[in-house]
Amino acid sequence: MTLRIIKPEVIKDKTILLRVDFNVPLTNKDGRKVVVDNTRIKKALPTIKLLQQHNCKIIMLSHLGRPGGKIDEELRLEPLATELSSLLEEGLESETEAIPQIKTSQHLVGSEVEALISNLKAKEILILENTRFDPREKENDLKLAEKLASYADLYVNEGFSVSHRAHVSTAGITNFLPAYAGLAFSEEYQMLTQLTKDPKKPFVAVIGGAKISDKIEAIRNLTKIADVVLVGGGIANNFIKAEGIEVYQSYLEEEKLAEKKNDDQSFVELAFDLLEENKVDKMLLNDYIPLPKIIYPSDVVAAEEMKKPSWTEVVSLTDNKQQDLYPDLMFLDIGPKTQRLYRDIILQAGTVFWNGPMGVFEEEAFSDGTKAIASAVAKTGAETTIGGGDTLRAIKNFGLEGRFDHVSAAGGAALDLLAGHRLPGLEPLLESA
Ligand code: ADP
Ligand code: MG
Repeated sequence: MTLRIIKPEVIKDKTILLRVDFNVPLTNKDGRKVVVDNTRIKKALPTIKLLQQHNCKIIMLSHLGRPGGKIDEELRLEPLATELSSLLEEGLESETEAIPQIKTSQHLVGSEVEALISNLKAKEILILENTRFDPREKENDLKLAEKLASYADLYVNEGFSVSHRAHVSTAGITNFLPAYAGLAFSEEYQMLTQLTKDPKKPFVAVIGGAKISDKIEAIRNLTKIADVVLVGGGIANNFIKAEGIEVYQSYLEEEKLAEKKNDDQSFVELAFDLLEENKVDKMLLNDYIPLPKIIYPSDVVAAEEMKKPSWTEVVSLTDNKQQDLYPDLMFLDIGPKTQRLYRDIILQAGTVFWNGPMGVFEEEAFSDGTKAIASAVAKTGAETTIGGGDTLRAIKNFGLEGRFDHVSAAGGAALDLLAGHRLPGLEPLLESA
């Protein structure tokens, strides 16, 4: 399968519906809403500029936050237009050059939008109001999709990070318009498929974070494509408990998958099965130490309080006597032994994929594990890909930005792709080679 990517001869002089993911954090400043982190907007700039170079009229679609299918004054897209405008201005070659106008509408469809579109000139941008103000967006309502499609000649998806959603703006529209991937979408797709198809060995996956429900399927699929999966963070507690080790008051997502997947196993049971299935797989460390495919922490940093703890303690999980004393104990970071082992493995990898902090990195006392992993991934000679909103935040805190080969901005969508799922926003852009 190959991805259909925008090309000059296809986009020239066309009106384009461009789906972006401008779901960025906003804050109030001098009575106005302003963008706090414009990374996602920046990622779409090359595609926007390419469309402008080829005289396209650009109608942009994005969601922002979770308005729940209703208008929410706090979540209007206007501040995004201001940010986009100043980013495009920064990129201008000369001061005399004017940037094409950026307009916003108060609605997603309807007469106001139609009037704005009929006045839209080549290179201009119209940002339609928050797609999620309309309840039909998430229902993937085909009537809404058809209406939106009637406004343009082509659809371009530049929001890989929402391509795991079957919504009007990510999937529905492709029923009515020729659909192409934008440049950043394509880059993200290539880097993730590279991991699943032809990673340089050994391929080490490091998975952490809080909720195992977000990540278990990616872990399952990674056991098939990676040589070793190192787990940390809150999700490691499921594996630790699966091995019969007490986790006390540690964060543990134990809800059943029943509602979602018609599966009545708990996450601890699923973790147990994964460990069992992968017992026989071995990977060699330094060419002589056999390792199981899934490795979970052998020691943890524990405390009774998550915020500003009065004391913390390293608890060895291979020696269970010392833990009986503390019924309120929580495991909040990977311990020093585990850090060393994970580090050694990462330094010998050919490919590393890392998603999810190793502990509650927001708290100084529990940030060492994530720091150790971040430094090892930054330092290794392997081809590295990192992703996950909190993981990227941790990297920023540690001052390690720019030390990785690929940074995936697509948390859930990336994990879904790595889990082997079909993404409803990606499928319509693929064609058999
Ligand atoms: P990402 O956004 O990178 O995918 P997640 O959202 O899955 O990561 O998880 C990040 C959160 O997990 C952080 O807020 C962190 O505090 C929390 N976390 C990590 N380890 C633990 C732990 N042992 N117990 C509870 N929470 C944890
Ligand atoms: Mg997160």
